[in-house]
Amino acid sequence: VKCIGILTSGGDAPGMNAAIRAVTRSAIYNGLQVKGIYRGYKGLVTGEIKEFKSQNVSNIIQLGGTILKTARCKEFTTPEGRQMAYDNMKREGIDALVIIGGDGSLTGARIFAQEFDIPCIGLPGTIDNDLFGTDTTIGYDTALNTILGAVDKIRDTATSHERLFFVEVMGRDAGFLALNGAIASGAEAAIIPEFSTEVDQLEEFIKNGFRKSKNSSIVLVAESELTGGAMHYAERVKNEYPQYDVRVTILGHLQRGGSPTANDRILASRLGAAAIDAIMEDQRNVMIGIENDEIVYVPFSKAIKNDKPIKKELVNVLKELSI
Ligand code: ADP
Repeated sequence: VKCIGILTSGGDAPGMNAAIRAVTRSAIYNGLQVKGIYRGYKGLVTGEIKEFKSQNVSNIIQLGGTILKTARCKEFTTPEGRQMAYDNMKREGIDALVIIGGDGSLTGARIFAQEFDIPCIGLPGTIDNDLFGTDTTIGYDTALNTILGAVDKIRDTATSHERLFFVEVMGRDAGFLALNGAIASGAEAAIIPEFSTEVDQLEEFIKNGFRKSKNSSIVLVAESELTGGAMHYAERVKNEYPQYDVRVTILGHLQRGGSPTANDRILASRLGAAAIDAIMEDQRNVMIGIENDEIVYVPFSKAIKNDKPIKKELVNVLKELSI
């Protein structure tokens, strides 16, 4: 491998820039040429590619979003689109790819790597923390901190008015942000998709906690078709328990923004450097993850479409501490 291409794809996450910087600098340090590919797979298909030197990634470690931009790309899901991507790579002399993105992006990388003989290395870039085989993902810690900043503020008004707030957080069918966000912000409960078929989490919450000794309650709800979202629970409470004063806040896209936390910057730097190590070791088609503070290589097939389990211990901690 002499020249690598780097792209960010799918949903953006804080820390992607720190990862771009790490991959670029680590590649150059190891004597590789680097090309930045814009707008995810779209730039690969259309040929929006530019050589990256060390200075191209100066002054970005602290920035949210991604300087390479990101996009969702329909063409790349077709064999014709991927052929165009491959042709552009060859034209640019790119012989390996580093893809920073979530489940969808790594699925695309896996298919591309199967069709063409191109080493692809993935970095877990998603606020949702829903990739299997890694303890955490780039952007997750920042999003969690953003959530607790917002919930702290909501608590002020919730307490003053003695209200029950349902706060909807992101997660795309994963409950990590909701559950750990609830623990970190001292919320009374979290409604997460992982348990939505097993128990009626609203019933449990009302039964166990609400208004025992408190003058307000905050419940974090993970966005998901399985939970139905915060609105769904607010409607239910209004119907079943009309005595409660219920409000809904949907945090939305503010959860994706902001300067990455120290943890996310360090994680992105380590994973980015490890991506180049992997390429130098002739690894291919793996996601770089971190487990027990050690770098691990996770085959794409394992990382994607594999439900990452929620620790029951965390659920119990939230339950015990919200009495
Ligand atoms: P994320 O990476 O955040 O999960 P998406 O699911 O939107 O985001 O995926 C990002 C991009 O990855 C898609 O727009 C598409 O270009 C590519 N991709 C996703 N799934 C596939 C697939 N099955 N085959 C090829 N490309 C895919």
